[in-house]
Amino acid sequence: MNVHDSEKMAGILKAGGYAEAANTEDADLIIFNTCSIRQKAEQKFRSELGRIKLLKSKNPLLKIAVAGCIAQQRGRDILKRSPHVDYVFGPQNIHKLSAMLTTNAMVCIEDNPEIQHTDLPAERKENIKAWVSIMYGCNNFCSYCIVPYTRGRERSRPSQNMYKEIHELAEKGFKEVTLLGQNVNSYNSDTNFPGLLRKIDTIKEVERIRFVTSHPRDLSDELILCIKELPKTCEHIHLPLQSGSGRILKLMNRGYTYEDYLEKVRKLKESIPHIAITTDLIAGFPSETDNDHSMTIKALRSIEFDGIFAFKFSPRQGTKAAEMEGSINEEIKSQRLNEILGLQDDITLRKNEALKGTLQEVLVEGASKKDKGKITGRTRTNKIVNFEGDESLIGKLVNVEIRMAMRHSLEGRLTSQS
Ligand code: SF4
Repeated sequence: MNVHDSEKMAGILKAGGYAEAANTEDADLIIFNTCSIRQKAEQKFRSELGRIKLLKSKNPLLKIAVAGCIAQQRGRDILKRSPHVDYVFGPQNIHKLSAMLTTNAMVCIEDNPEIQHTDLPAERKENIKAWVSIMYGCNNFCSYCIVPYTRGRERSRPSQNMYKEIHELAEKGFKEVTLLGQNVNSYNSDTNFPGLLRKIDTIKEVERIRFVTSHPRDLSDELILCIKELPKTCEHIHLPLQSGSGRILKLMNRGYTYEDYLEKVRKLKESIPHIAITTDLIAGFPSETDNDHSMTIKALRSIEFDGIFAFKFSPRQGTKAAEMEGSINEEIKSQRLNEILGLQDDITLRKNEALKGTLQEVLVEGASKKDKGKITGRTRTNKIVNFEGDESLIGKLVNVEIRMAMRHSLEGRLTSQS
């Protein structure tokens, strides 16, 4: 979400006559697009912001802006604590960037109830895959999460706006789009999310459609049918579980039980046997006992995700979980996280090994960063595959036979161009 917001800021700046500086020392304007999902991201931002102060003393014309969720949360306080900052604007006020730059110090953090109608030009670095926002904000208020406070209420863009945007992307040669939202399953405008997928699937030049993120509670049978039936919609779903313990899920205000989640996974696997399912997990949520943690471990063993993003619980000021009793000490959090990650490493490897000998459709994305002379791409299930091939294949769909499996990637052999 933040990466795509940065693309929109770059698009606005480009339209306003700005060009990208080769490095921060040469820049007339530096924007920090911040994330406040965990404490660590916030600390990184603070130290970078301190470091950049020096540049301002060398170049008094330099303007510094702070955008993103930390800007939204801290607002004017950023200007007070860091007087070298000129502008502060939240994720709902990106459209004001141009106007803001013509004024002196300014804070823009108000709610934007029209954000779904505020289409902005995006300056994308890649030319094969593109992010496309379909909605903004979130109504869920999971107890640990700051997003509903920083990005506001859920607002869905009208489907014809995405249709037009994706059409234009296709004309420019983009082959894959990832539809973005905090909870795409609750997209609700002139159609619902499955309706939107069906509409976008008709755009001829688009080869692949992906989407993130899906809230398990709102995953419908209709959506499962779309993944199964629609030729361009990829067989991969990111479905954040967060914990295998029903008690913790309740404290997290996730709106589903572990059994509900299992049932959705069962339906997904039954309809689309080769689907890849990935998830997010939080280790050491307040009051999490050894027993709760072992339920998460059990969930990993029984569901066998294709990949996970797991992090230690990080209290976010202003959320309910930050006030909860029973905080877990850092050492235990780390132990639990390591156990989760270690187990998942084995599962991922085993799942990747099961692909050996299979033929996979791969969208070639570029030259391999690790292996000189090889090219790289992703399967429909979002697994990275490296193989020998000519760079003229970049942007094309090819068939690759999987020869070797590692934890984070696969090695293959090009068989034919599809
Ligand atoms: S659904 Fe996602 S974005 Fe919304 S509150 Fe929960 S964790 Fe945060």
